[in-house]
Amino acid sequence: MGDIIDAAQELEYRLRTQSLACHRVRFAELVLENCVECGEPIPDARRKALSGALRCIDCQNELETGSRL
Ligand SMILES: [Zn+2]
Repeated sequence: MGDIIDAAQELEYRLRTQSLACHRVRFAELVLENCVECGEPIPDARRKALSGALRCIDCQNELETGSRL
């Protein structure tokens, strides 16, 4: 079990010590993997179909129906 934590910490350390530009790209990737509203992971298929999808299907539906008059 300790190995998993060590590996995670090592990965985090590596991400932190990478160049700023690279870090920014990785940070963006991490952000885009999760819905900006509820934080649930956005399915790969959805992200690929809608490049730049920021919300999960539920939140997107809520946003679209909620914004209609
Ligand atoms: Zn969501």
